[in-house]
Amino acid sequence: MSLVCWSGGCDSTLALLDLSRESSEAHPVKALSVSHPQVIGDEEHRKARQAILEWARNKGHHIVHQELHLRVHGSDGKITGAGGKEGWFNADQNGGLIQPIMWMPLAATYLDVREDLYMGYVREDDIWHYEGNFTRMFGDLQFLMNKKGSIKYPLKGESKVDVIRRLKELGVLDLCWYCEDPKKGKPCDDCPSCRRHLTGLWQLDRFKPVEDEKDVEKEDDVKAEVRKAETPGSPEGSS
Ligand SMILES: [Zn+2]
Repeated sequence: MSLVCWSGGCDSTLALLDLSRESSEAHPVKALSVSHPQVIGDEEHRKARQAILEWARNKGHHIVHQELHLRVHGSDGKITGAGGKEGWFNADQNGGLIQPIMWMPLAATYLDVREDLYMGYVREDDIWHYEGNFTRMFGDLQFLMNKKGSIKYPLKGESKVDVIRRLKELGVLDLCWYCEDPKKGKPCDDCPSCRRHLTGLWQLDRFKPVEDEKDVEKEDDVKAEVRKAETPGSPEGSS
C-alpha cells in the first residue's frame, strides 16, 4: 500500500488520484491529511477534501482517508506578523517551508514498515532547493522507526499547468483548494498560490498542446487548397 500526504490542493490531489485510479477494495490507497491552525487555508482545504473524496468514491477510487486534527491550546493560536497583520500563518514569523515539515514527519509515523510515502510537489515548488535535506530527514525518521519505505515525488517533472490540465480533464479541478489567504471562504486571487494557479489557467487557455497545433496547421493547409481550387486562373503567388 502507499500513503499520500494529501492537502486537498491541486498537486496532492492529482498525486492521490493517479495512485488510486488502480485501487480496489482489497488494495486501497491511504491518504493522510493534517489539520492545524498553521496550515494555510485549513478550513477551506478540509471542505475541499470532503468534496474530492465524494467525487473519487463515485468514480470507483478506493481511498482510506485519515485526518489528523491538531489544535493549539493555551492561546487562540493566532500569530501577529509584520505590520500588525493578524493571521493563522505568517511566513515572516514562522519561517518558510513550515507545511512540509508539519506534514512529512507526521505522515512518516503512519507508514507501515514497507510503505512508501508520496508527496505531490511539482516542478516550480521551493522544496527542490532543499530536496536533499528533506529526503535525508525522511530517511533518518525511517531509520529511527525501523521502517523500510522510501519517499516518492511523482509530480517532480510536471509543472502547475500540467496539473491543472489533467485535473480539468478529470473534472475535479473546481473541487480543489489553492489559496493561501482566503477571503470569506473565497480565493483572494492575489497570494502567491492564487497567482500561480491563475497563471496556470491562463497558460492552459493560451497555449494548446502540440498535437492540436498540428491539426490547426493541417486544417489551414486544407482551407488554402480549397481556396486555390475555387479561384481558377489566379496564378499562385499573385496578389
Ligand atoms: Zn489566494
